[in-house]
Amino acid sequence: MFCYKCGNGLKDDDVYCPKCGTKAHTDMQSGKEDKKDEDGALYKIVGAIIVVGVVLLILYAIFIALPWILIIGGVVLTVLVVGALANSKKEGS
Ligand SMILES: [Zn+2]
Repeated sequence: MFCYKCGNGLKDDDVYCPKCGTKAHTDMQSGKEDKKDEDGALYKIVGAIIVVGVVLLILYAIFIALPWILIIGGVVLTVLVVGALANSKKEGS
């Protein structure tokens, strides 16, 4: 690690350059943090887009499947009701 202003050798735990007093590796640290924050924001945005996409896909699937569920459910219900009525009629007579 070297002071970016005067080129003096610095220890890793040096906060200020002992030669010129410049704050040590501030630019690199802040640069790294900025990049990290940008990456984090990007990941958050990508994650949000994926979540929204999955939710929309599920809603779309439900929307597409709903008529079939209603039709099949209606047919099954009708069969069950008719069957039950037929059974009760048989039992009654
Ligand atoms: Zn220095």
